[in-house]
Amino acid sequence: MQINVAQQLKEYIGSIRNYEVSEVFDITGNGNKSLVQGKVKLMRTDRGILVTGGLQTEVEVTCSRCLSLFSCPLTLNIEEEYFPTTDVASGIPLPLPEEPGCFTIDEHHVLDLTEAIRQQALLVMPMKPLCRQDCAGLCPNCGHNLNQGACGCPPQGTDPRWAELSKLALASGVNEPKGTE
Ligand SMILES: [Zn+2]
Ligand SMILES: [Zn+2]
Repeated sequence: MQINVAQQLKEYIGSIRNYEVSEVFDITGNGNKSLVQGKVKLMRTDRGILVTGGLQTEVEVTCSRCLSLFSCPLTLNIEEEYFPTTDVASGIPLPLPEEPGCFTIDEHHVLDLTEAIRQQALLVMPMKPLCRQDCAGLCPNCGHNLNQGACGCPPQGTDPRWAELSKLALASGVNEPKGTE
């Protein structure tokens, strides 16, 4: 996801170039490759290059309810200014702006979008991913994935037969484990 911006750095402020992005890379660092697609616009600013654009990708995540892996679509809105580290005309190193974590264009005038895309993906990734909005989750009793249908377990705490049984257990002096109420 690298763009050589040597030419554009020589252009006037406000000059624009458009690029199609279609690349596969490991966004989350977990070894799964994702296809990132979309368009970015690079604009020459007085300080460097402003990158804006909308990208689409999908990452593999674990459903927070049923623990199954699924593909989660992400929309990445990129808006980052990149600062040159070397003057394109003279080759002289440039001082960086005093902005912590700002993005830079390397000494070969290559602008690398990878880190900006990765950061944006982490930002928009859901904290509690759901494979679908109405994911039924796992049976707390047997661990069965309830999206695949009911398991054989009685509904918790509602079946009168179980209420009777636990009364019997209490009456016979069986200790209930603490902290399960
Ligand atoms: Zn799920
Ligand atoms: Zn069950």
